[in-house]
Amino acid sequence: MTDADLIVIGAGLSGCALVARLRQLGWVGQIALVEAGRGPGGRSASRRRRDRTAWRLDHGAPGLHFSQPVVAELNPLLSRMREAGVLVEEPTAIISIDSDGQPAENAPKAQPDGGWWRGMPCMASLCEHLLEQAGPEQLALHWQRRVRWLSRRDGLWTLSDQDNTWQLRGRSLVLSGNLLAHPRSLAMLNWPDVPLRAAVPPGVDGDLDQALNQLARCRADVRWNLMLDLPLEGSTLPRQICLTAEAQQRWRVERLVLQPQADGRTGLVMHGLHDGSNITPESQPDLLARQEKRLIAGLEQMLVGMPSLQAACRLATSLGVMRWGASQPLDHPLQQQLQWCPISEVGFCGDYVEGTGFGRGQGALESGVLLAKRMVSA
Ligand SMILES: Cc1cc2nc3c(=O)[nH]c(=O)nc-3n(C[C@H](O)[C@H](O)[C@H](O)COP(=O)(O)OP(=O)(O)OC[C@H]3O[C@@H](n4cnc5c(N)ncnc54)[C@H](O)[C@@H]3O)c2cc1C
Repeated sequence: MTDADLIVIGAGLSGCALVARLRQLGWVGQIALVEAGRGPGGRSASRRRRDRTAWRLDHGAPGLHFSQPVVAELNPLLSRMREAGVLVEEPTAIISIDSDGQPAENAPKAQPDGGWWRGMPCMASLCEHLLEQAGPEQLALHWQRRVRWLSRRDGLWTLSDQDNTWQLRGRSLVLSGNLLAHPRSLAMLNWPDVPLRAAVPPGVDGDLDQALNQLARCRADVRWNLMLDLPLEGSTLPRQICLTAEAQQRWRVERLVLQPQADGRTGLVMHGLHDGSNITPESQPDLLARQEKRLIAGLEQMLVGMPSLQAACRLATSLGVMRWGASQPLDHPLQQQLQWCPISEVGFCGDYVEGTGFGRGQGALESGVLLAKRMVSA
């Protein structure tokens, strides 16, 4: 008995690109997409509010930062997103400030050669669109299911949640996030094992052994993103305010992202950098409170050169801090040739796979379409 031919864990850009591209290539078979969050997007998701239902706040990636050329296999998905108006270019919406809070020459990251693009009306629209492209037939979506246990027996994968109250069985498995395959789960979540390693012991599948060794070397950077509701109409404000290297060092903030809302107010997301503190289930609540306090405190001086925004920030309401656990992989990408391990029928996609878009939305999308190609020709 199986629930699906393919189970994909994670409905971020890579997992959604994988299922959309598989369908474009004519792959038939039942797919189950399992996601810990309430909806699609992952680190390119958008926060909604219960008290103001028209609000959409891009609290992770505020846009996609493309480098040329993108892999050819991605163009059919990108063209459809552009035609549908869910992926739009924002040519002039980025400014930079220096460590005195004054306008600076644009920081290097502000001018990628393939331009800045964003989801419309919000970043989550990109993944929503990809899932529509995948078609509702033979695609089962499992939201708010966090996979904890993996096992493989008699050529079948079985997945279950922490309490074993929910299970799913499938022939092939793809991990988009890499937490289930990376030793950081041992410290961060107090898990005694790396789930994928526990499911397939060393020596059974040489490709998987290599993939797990490479993944273990990939380090990720943590971000603390503070979300604020500002009493300010934001249509004339820049979309992103990047900080120069000195300014980032001074305030431990990478950039401020502004998003005008339908009710005439503005959402502001401060992308706070990590200070190296040890994150465990026990330390997290205190760390969240500390980050919120220090990020709010920095705004006054940071925005000294933009008095109307500075004044609005004094009246802002905090919507809390979001910790992004694997914000961008820093080094040691997973080699593309190890993206699919045929003996165990397990694959990987995500921004941690090697390629020009490594560590960014582009890399996530590219890894999804490249894995689809590999799986169709396998
Ligand atoms: C703060 C921030 C700013 C960024 N800025 C930019 C930018 O300006 N430009 C750019 O190009 N990129 C940017 N990025 C990077 C970009 O967001 C990512 O590269 C991209 O979204 C990654 O997509 P993904 O599918 O690889 O991973 P993810 O989006 O992380 O998707 C993985 C999904 O798997 C789910 N998942 C993981 N484990 C489990 C489990 N056990 N059970 C169920 N579900 C699970 C997660 O919930 C998640 O939804 C930024 C990222 C962050 C966090």
